[in-house]
Amino acid sequence: MAEAFDAARMAENVREIREKMAEAARLAGRRPEEILLCAVCKTRSSETVRQSAALPVDLFGENHMQELVLHGDDGAYLGKPAHFIGHLQTNKVKKVVGRAAVIQSVDSVRLLEAIDREAEKQGLRQEILFELNIGGELSKTGAATDELWPLLEACAGRKHVEARGLMAIPPAFDNGDDSRRYFAMLRELMEQAKARHYENARLDVLSMGMTDSYLAAIAEGATIVRVGTAIYGERYYPPKEA
Ligand SMILES: *Cc1c(COP(=O)(O)O)cnc(C)c1O
Repeated sequence: MAEAFDAARMAENVREIREKMAEAARLAGRRPEEILLCAVCKTRSSETVRQSAALPVDLFGENHMQELVLHGDDGAYLGKPAHFIGHLQTNKVKKVVGRAAVIQSVDSVRLLEAIDREAEKQGLRQEILFELNIGGELSKTGAATDELWPLLEACAGRKHVEARGLMAIPPAFDNGDDSRRYFAMLRELMEQAKARHYENARLDVLSMGMTDSYLAAIAEGATIVRVGTAIYGERYYPPKEA
């Protein structure tokens, strides 16, 4: 099972990933410190998450509210931030707001409003990213790319959310380089959004690239790469529904 994946192997994996990330940054004329490594720990035990938190990963990515709560309550992140990256139903918003430093998967005005209301109740300002379905795939979550503008407009007047950027999961390919044009599309969308000067939108975060594609994503401007398998090994059981 996933638990058998030993700590030494995990440390070696993270070391290799950071080296490759730094090299990809240099090749792209970027500073390695600009790019954060998000460890995607869905399905992993709190013990495994804790072991990985001691390694040079910058933050954690959680797909399911229950795991965010469990890992958080177990102290498994060792004080590092956790971001929510899974599909979020409005009835789960309550438990995710405040616990997640950033909710990366905001894909509807309805969800945005629910987050804003809950953040107001808790007296905080919740940072968010808009998740876009950049490949237009029926099977994927995320807003259609032309919904980005109404989302940014809906966010503009709100006091308890702040838009920090965009997130996407492009179509899967055998080769990370094939993902690259989708990453370029996401970067271009963010540049367009910046040029329109929306209120309440700092737009300095691009979350894109996973195990098979994080180097191509860095070449196209990713500031967060979300890596699971390359850190923790294969996932052996399907994640529970969020
Ligand atoms: C699972 C997941 C990842 C990581 O995928 P790997 O291929 O295991 O690196 C990244 N982002 C999201 C949204 C995920 O659900």
